[in-house]
Amino acid sequence: MTDFRYLIVGGGMVADAAARGIRELDADGSIGILSEDVDRPYARPALSKKLWTDPDFSWDDKVDLHTEETGAQFVLGTTVTAIDRAAKTVTTADGATHGYERLLLATGGKPRGLPGLSPSERVLDYRSASDYRRLRELADAGAHVAVVGGGYIGQEITAGIVQNGARVTLVDPDEVVGGRMFPADLAQAFQQRFIDHGVELRTGRRVSEGTETADGVRLTLDDGSVIDADAVVAGLGIEPATQLAADAGLTVRDGIVVTSTLLTDDDSVFAAGDVAEYPDRILGTRRVEHVDNAQQQGRQAGRNLADADETYDHTPMFYSDVFDMGYEAVGQVSAKLRTVEDWQDPTVTGVVYYLDDDDTVRGVLLWNVWDKTDEARKVLAEANALTPDMLPGRITP
Ligand SMILES: Cc1cc2nc3c(=O)[nH]c(=O)nc-3n(C[C@H](O)[C@H](O)[C@H](O)COP(=O)(O)OP(=O)(O)OC[C@H]3O[C@@H](n4cnc5c(N)ncnc54)[C@H](O)[C@@H]3O)c2cc1C
Repeated sequence: MTDFRYLIVGGGMVADAAARGIRELDADGSIGILSEDVDRPYARPALSKKLWTDPDFSWDDKVDLHTEETGAQFVLGTTVTAIDRAAKTVTTADGATHGYERLLLATGGKPRGLPGLSPSERVLDYRSASDYRRLRELADAGAHVAVVGGGYIGQEITAGIVQNGARVTLVDPDEVVGGRMFPADLAQAFQQRFIDHGVELRTGRRVSEGTETADGVRLTLDDGSVIDADAVVAGLGIEPATQLAADAGLTVRDGIVVTSTLLTDDDSVFAAGDVAEYPDRILGTRRVEHVDNAQQQGRQAGRNLADADETYDHTPMFYSDVFDMGYEAVGQVSAKLRTVEDWQDPTVTGVVYYLDDDDTVRGVLLWNVWDKTDEARKVLAEANALTPDMLPGRITP
């Protein structure tokens, strides 16, 4: 049994930020990081973006987060199976036990699977660096890859691999790629880029059944049509990995419930990142699956593990890059909401405001507009005092 002053379950982006946050206040306290992943923490967004689009983006310089600089001790390739809150220990699948004074749950989420298919060399749920390495082999071999899912990760992977030798079929439940997030004209322009790059689109369709064959994967769609591909990437989103916390008797709703200081209902146990449901200062209770949140909340959790007792008051942004397009956004970006569009150049450069039924701004999309997320946060913070006619011109590219 190894005891740590600070023990982190999960070795992703939160783990890195938290270890650094701890070190801002405590130079020596021992830090342990237990992770299912076989790699030390890395910048996950690179797996679907820069590693495909920027030949100078090296693993060692740009992707590996070098968390070892904090002096944290790693146990990789290990799954934590139980927490004993009374004894302040955790147990791993291989039977080892580790003690803690302060525990951080940073388990992120488990990717949703496709019906009939389990992860394999040809069925990738695309969350980890191992998945990236396998997809790189497939793209280099000019494989036919089916990407399934209508979210930004599926879109980015499609763009990444079609520009690197793969033939890609994108299966998207939305009628238009991007249709669940963007206003109609913008979604059409967005989708056109996929067509221009030779992506075969199967929009408005879901996978009913998948089968892995000797040399590939067969997908049957909900209209009865069939796609035979060398491999499939499932971009179906994640379920927050809350089971460990629930089994330990901690309160779990959409995620592990934490206070504004990121504490669970046990005053030795914190949670942060994709797995945590927290009270956002501007947007209210929510769980966020984005890197800005992982980094800022992770850092704050680390500081609070080391007794800072500070409120997490950062409202996170998110971003995506696809072909030559990119955006940053704050708050809710959903085509179910009403929009006010403010384009400098239609569907090329501009701002989209998302409003609820009471005409209150709930989200801001900055399309090819950079360094304006603080202004977007200000709009959201002042939303109750803003009417739709006051929005155009409020944020200028
Ligand atoms: C391909 C990809 C691209 C992305 N691109 C963007 C982007 O462009 N913009 C953006 O804002 N966000 C993006 N994200 C999301 C962002 O990376 C996540 O929000 C962030 O990584 C969350 O950090 P986390 O530490 O909470 O979870 P993760 O980074 O997922 O880490 C969780 C860790 O916990 C481990 N774990 C889970 N359960 C256990 C257990 N029981 N025992 C031990 N270890 C366990 C996992 O193996 C993993 O190492 C992307 C994600 C992916 C996968």
